[in-house]
Amino acid sequence: MSGHVGYPPAPDPLPIPVVDNHAHLDMSRDGLEAPDLQELIAAATAVGVPRMIQIGCDLPGARFTVDAIDRYAALLGGVAIHPNEAPKLQDVGEVESARAEIELLASHPRVRVIGETGLDYFRIGPEGVVAQQDSFRWHIDLAKRTGKVLQIHDRDAHEDVLRILAEEGAPDHTVLHCFSGDIDMARECVERGYLLSFAGTVTFKNAKDLRNALAVTPLDSLLVETDAPFLTPAPHRGATNAPYLVPLTVRAMADVLNVDVPSLCTAIAANSERVYGPW
Ligand SMILES: [Zn+2]
Repeated sequence: MSGHVGYPPAPDPLPIPVVDNHAHLDMSRDGLEAPDLQELIAAATAVGVPRMIQIGCDLPGARFTVDAIDRYAALLGGVAIHPNEAPKLQDVGEVESARAEIELLASHPRVRVIGETGLDYFRIGPEGVVAQQDSFRWHIDLAKRTGKVLQIHDRDAHEDVLRILAEEGAPDHTVLHCFSGDIDMARECVERGYLLSFAGTVTFKNAKDLRNALAVTPLDSLLVETDAPFLTPAPHRGATNAPYLVPLTVRAMADVLNVDVPSLCTAIAANSERVYGPW
């Protein structure tokens, strides 16, 4: 990614290829122009991340996603209305039309994910909570009706996320994207058969609880992601994130789990294929 302002140097390649199971290649940061898809995919492929799941979480993002997966074999797609978007659509009376379009885009065979949906209580009032929960329930149902993977965004809402999943009945494949819970939550998710996807946050200095949660997660319940362009792993925290930085997170995870990097890569690759299918 040399030649692009704000992008760190490439890490050493992984010995076995893995999937970045959650990235927003349609988004850029700080008003800087994002590199084109071809370049992002090439940079990731060069370090052992040849496949990634592009997540579009509003209507423009979902349209971008379907267009991108048609053009690039390295990509699968996910579409949804993000929990932070749901209350805004409610305010302007566009929930129904937005859902109809998401459902249509989700019928693409290489859209394998309904997400990210879920709950985000970071900055939200009571009406926002109602709109988010209603949207979350609708997405759970959509994932089940279409047989696709549910990817969940959970910010400061662990209890309600787990409660609503239990009430509705989770889809066969449910992934906690950017897992942010503690040991107890990790155990609960594993017991329920959910997958935990770890992002660059697991490398952050102050993330001891998160590393403790990772340490109790079995290898066959793990996925890795960037959430690019956000959550750039150490030692580049604050820079712009992209799928080619996944090796930094994988190596940090291997340290926490006390396994060698090839074993962890093998597990992540197998889990990704089991959940999302081949591509
Ligand atoms: Zn995301």
